[in-house]
Amino acid sequence: MTGRIVKDMRGKTCLICGHGWELTAEAYSDQWHWQIHEDMVHETCMIRYVSLQDYALYWNALRDAGLRFDVPARIPNAYWSPRDRWHARSWYRITLLDSKRTLKVGFRKHVHHLEIERGDGDIDAKLAIELFKTENVTKGLVDLDLNSPKDWSPNMNKDGWYVHAWSNEKAREYMVYFAAVLGLEKKKP
Ligand SMILES: [Zn+2]
Repeated sequence: MTGRIVKDMRGKTCLICGHGWELTAEAYSDQWHWQIHEDMVHETCMIRYVSLQDYALYWNALRDAGLRFDVPARIPNAYWSPRDRWHARSWYRITLLDSKRTLKVGFRKHVHHLEIERGDGDIDAKLAIELFKTENVTKGLVDLDLNSPKDWSPNMNKDGWYVHAWSNEKAREYMVYFAAVLGLEKKKP
């Protein structure tokens, strides 16, 4: 299994940071079983590790989609409450160099939340609806549920768009769609 279990960790060291566990209740509860290694790590170390993996995933997805962007800014995780250790799994706000819109990306319990935030300048909402039509996931305009849009309105272009990606591959694919929705589609060589 993977996850929170409490074992006797005396004399053991965490695979990630190489340090052991202090004999306090707080330190002792900081345990995580890493299934693929069949080994124990600090839960806090695991959170940092996956956080950095999230960052690399988004960074590469942005680059591969042909978007130019500033260093992603860390923002609080919008899924886990601050009382939960996993709140430390950062979300990111991305400033795009060729658009007035910003992106907000981050991990929830099972999915990556990917969002073009509301802001100045239009998105192509019609194109977003079309591109994501066959994706059977939570998605839509930020302020209006567009999973089954009826009446088209140009106001929709002023809205934001979000989608939940169930895998890293989907997150990368959706970032390419986002580029198109933002009118920043990668130029074909
Ligand atoms: Zn550790």
